[in-house]
Amino acid sequence: MICKTISVGDKRCDSCFKKCDDLKRCSQCSFLYFCNRSCQENAWEMHKKECKFILKSKPNVPTASMRLFALILFKLQKYGEDNPQEDIYGRKVSFKTLMSHAEEIKQSIKPIQQMVALISTLKDYIGESNIPPPSEFIEIFGKMVINSFTISNHDGESIGTGVYLGASVFDHSCNPNAEVVFDGINMYIHAVKRITPRDINKVYISYIEQIEFTEKRQESLLEQYYFLCQCEKCTSPEYNDLMKKLIVSEEEAKQHLEKFREGLENIKEIKKSKVGAATLYSACLQELNAQGEILADTHIYRVKVLETAFDACVWNNQWADAVMIGQQLLKPYRLYYSDYNPAFGVHLFKLGKIQLFLNLPSSYETLKQASEILEITHGKKHPLYQELLENLCDSESLSLSKLSITE
Ligand SMILES: [Zn+2]
Ligand SMILES: [Zn+2]
Ligand SMILES: [Zn+2]
Repeated sequence: MICKTISVGDKRCDSCFKKCDDLKRCSQCSFLYFCNRSCQENAWEMHKKECKFILKSKPNVPTASMRLFALILFKLQKYGEDNPQEDIYGRKVSFKTLMSHAEEIKQSIKPIQQMVALISTLKDYIGESNIPPPSEFIEIFGKMVINSFTISNHDGESIGTGVYLGASVFDHSCNPNAEVVFDGINMYIHAVKRITPRDINKVYISYIEQIEFTEKRQESLLEQYYFLCQCEKCTSPEYNDLMKKLIVSEEEAKQHLEKFREGLENIKEIKKSKVGAATLYSACLQELNAQGEILADTHIYRVKVLETAFDACVWNNQWADAVMIGQQLLKPYRLYYSDYNPAFGVHLFKLGKIQLFLNLPSSYETLKQASEILEITHGKKHPLYQELLENLCDSESLSLSKLSITE
């Protein structure tokens, strides 16, 4: 890995990305937190130079992407482009070998605008003398944007961004045969389908959210990675039809679809504004009610509202509702995700845990399915898989005890 930064506002250790009970602030900038001395020492080599700039920029603090870019610059200044170098199945990878798409960036308006904005804020943050000349800047900017990964916690929520060397060798497919998971800042990529021949060039991961309309997936890939995806899913009209499936005629649905798109945006805003889980949940229910007469249960708009409704129930401890909503997500997840998808596995785990909490014997089947997925996507040594096994054990005793009562 080259560099990583935590999402702003998330209080966790800047070195290992874990949330300890007793986090200590950096005594100099008091902006970053560390679990203990050892985490601080591990981070100090990278933090030393930025620490004084963070201190200087107060009361303003750098955004996560500004920090990430500055850290990359400092690292390049110190070690050059070829260090560190990682050996990925015989392929030598370093910052130097990463793709930048600099030529495409130069010809597109949006990334140029983003770059100009970044240069101007970076100048205030780390000073003009630390900013490389434009031709070099565009290369580094391109490499950062293309090779950044969202680092997620065990629940699949984003906690930061990192530029990883190893993962840069894998191409994208919306129907991937390998999946990326994290434990803290460590990234793991596991094959989820049989890959023959065992060739590194035949391993595909997904760069983007998989549950999305084909046009939108292609648009994001083109915009950020400069290629038109031609995977099985992108070239299948049936797949796209499924995501747009209606229960009324297209003519009848026409006037509603724009409203549903706006409704979804509105729900995203409510979620961002953190007004409270109860408000969010009631907005979701209202939207689901409106959609119910028009959209099929596999429609992407519906799936996205259900996902938010599920989270809102969990935040609000509405466990029975969480089970009801969570179960409705299983059908679309089975359709859109491959058999071994980490997001699907984690959803089953959450649902099973709630069922177990409610003493429902169905928890055993749900957790068993989750364990079959997580064993492949996360591996047996991953802490989430270990936690799942404990829950599975509890739910097995629960279903056995219920069985003996009925007998
Ligand atoms: Zn730590
Ligand atoms: Zn500091
Ligand atoms: Zn595709």
